[in-house]
Amino acid sequence: MTDQALIVAAHGSHRNPDSATPTYEHVDAIRDRGCFAQVREAFWKESPSFRDVIRTVDADEAYIVPLFISEGYFVDQVLPREFALGITDMRGTDHEPEVIYTDPVGTHPEMTDVVAARARRYLDDDVAESETALAVIGHGTERNPNSADAIYNHVDALRETTDFAEVGALFMDEAPYVDDVLEAFDADNIAVVPLFIADGFHTQDEIPELLGLTDDPRAGYPVPGEVSGRRIWYTSAVGTDPLMPEVLLERAADAGADIDHTAPETAPVRPDAADAFVSWVDSATTREWGELAVTHTDAGYALRHHADADASREALSTRDLDEFRSFARSDDDGRYRPFAGEESLPTGWTLDGLDADGLCRAVAAVYPAAIETWHDDPDAVPYREVAARQTGIYERVSNLSREGLIDVTTAVCGNCAKRRDWDESADDSLPVERGAGELPCREPCSFLVAAAREMLVDEPLDPDEQAPDHPDADVPPGDLTDPANRYRVRYRQARGAPEPTH
Ligand code: SF4
Repeated sequence: MTDQALIVAAHGSHRNPDSATPTYEHVDAIRDRGCFAQVREAFWKESPSFRDVIRTVDADEAYIVPLFISEGYFVDQVLPREFALGITDMRGTDHEPEVIYTDPVGTHPEMTDVVAARARRYLDDDVAESETALAVIGHGTERNPNSADAIYNHVDALRETTDFAEVGALFMDEAPYVDDVLEAFDADNIAVVPLFIADGFHTQDEIPELLGLTDDPRAGYPVPGEVSGRRIWYTSAVGTDPLMPEVLLERAADAGADIDHTAPETAPVRPDAADAFVSWVDSATTREWGELAVTHTDAGYALRHHADADASREALSTRDLDEFRSFARSDDDGRYRPFAGEESLPTGWTLDGLDADGLCRAVAAVYPAAIETWHDDPDAVPYREVAARQTGIYERVSNLSREGLIDVTTAVCGNCAKRRDWDESADDSLPVERGAGELPCREPCSFLVAAAREMLVDEPLDPDEQAPDHPDADVPPGDLTDPANRYRVRYRQARGAPEPTH
C-alpha cells in the first residue's frame, strides 16, 4: 500500500466567508478518519490554490475530488487545467504525486440519500413522508445542461427510493422556477432541499424570498414557513450536510482509494519544507513571516501579529490553535479578508507554547502552502501567463494594458504582506514596489486576476465618474463591483483619476 492523499477542490469566494465553511468541515471530518496521509482543501478563489496545493502533498497518489454539484465549466475545464499546470510546474522536489481526478461529488448516487436524509431531518416527527412533497432546487442554466441533469437524476432516484408523496425539481434560472413551488406540488407539506454546495446569497436570501418564506431575508425565515395555508420546510444547502464527508470518501474509493486504510498521522505542512522552515525560525531570535512574528520562549514558539511584537503578554488575548484558521479569516473589524496575503490580519492576540508542528499548522492556517512555496522556490509565473490560461468571464484579462497592470498591481499587491516575485524577470518587471520579507508570491493570485477583470475590463471607470475618494468601511473588501470598495479606490488613486468634486 502506498501513501495516498485526498484533495477536496472547491470554489471558495472573495466575498462570502461561508462559501469555504463546508469544505473545511468536511476535510476536518475526513482527516479524523485517518485513511489518507494528507487531506487538503484547495480553492479557485481562496488559498491554497489548485496549483499550490499539490506542493503540500507528500504521498504517492493524490485523489482530487471536486466539491461541485455537477460537471460543467469548473469540473471539466478549470480544475483539470489548473491541476495539470500545477504539477508540470513543480520543480526541485520529488513530491510529485500521481493525480487521480474524480467526478464531482454532487453527481454521486449517494447524494440522493443525503438529499432525502436532509429533508427528513427538518420535518417534524408527526409529518409523514408519504404525505409530504420533496422539491430539489438547482441553479440550472441553459448554458450547461449538466447542471439540470444532475438534479433530475437525483429526482428520479428519490422517486424510486423514498416514500415522499411527490418529488420534483425547481430551478433558479430555468423552468420550472422556484417561485412556482405551490403550483408544482399538491401536498400541504413541502420539503425543499437546495442542491448547492454552500450557503450564500442564493440559498439564504434569494430562494427563501422566491418561496414566499420572507420579504426580508436579512431577518431570516421560519422553518416551517406557512405560505398560502401550506407548510414549506426549507433546509439550508445540502453541501453543508454532515453526511457529505461520506460521499467525498465514496468518490475517492470509486476512483481506487483505499478508504479502509489507516495512514500515519501527518503534518499540516510537507515535512521537508516544515523542517527547513523551523530551522530558519530557530536561527534567529525573532522571525517575521508576512504579518506574523515568531519568537522563542521557554514554553515553545510564540506567534503574534508583528505589530504586537513588543507588546506585553498581558495586553494580548490568547488564541487557540484549533480556531486560529477561522479567527484569521476576518480583520479587526470582523470583515472577511478576501485574500490570504491582505495586510489586515487581526491584532492583539498571541498563540503561545507551540511546538514545531503547531507552529507550522498556525502559519499554514494564515498563509496556506506558503512554506512549501518558500522552500521549493518554483519558477515565477508572470501575469501574462496566468492571464493567457483564463477562460470564460476572465478570458479578457489578457487584454489588460501594461499601464493597467501597473495600476491594479499597485492597488492590490500594495496592500499585501507577500513579496511579489512573479514579475522578477527583466521582460515582466513592473515599476511597483515589491514588498520585502521572506513570504513569497510566485504567481498572481485569484484576487489580483478578479480585480483586473472588475476594474479594467468589464467596468472601466469613466474619468468623469463621481466616484468616492475614500473607501466605504461597510463595503466588503472582496466586493470589487462597488465603486467605494477599498481596492477600487486604491486603483483610482494609482491611475491618477481626477479627484471628485463633491
Ligand atoms: S498577486 Fe499580489 S496581492 Fe496577490 S498574493 Fe501576490 S503579491 Fe499578494
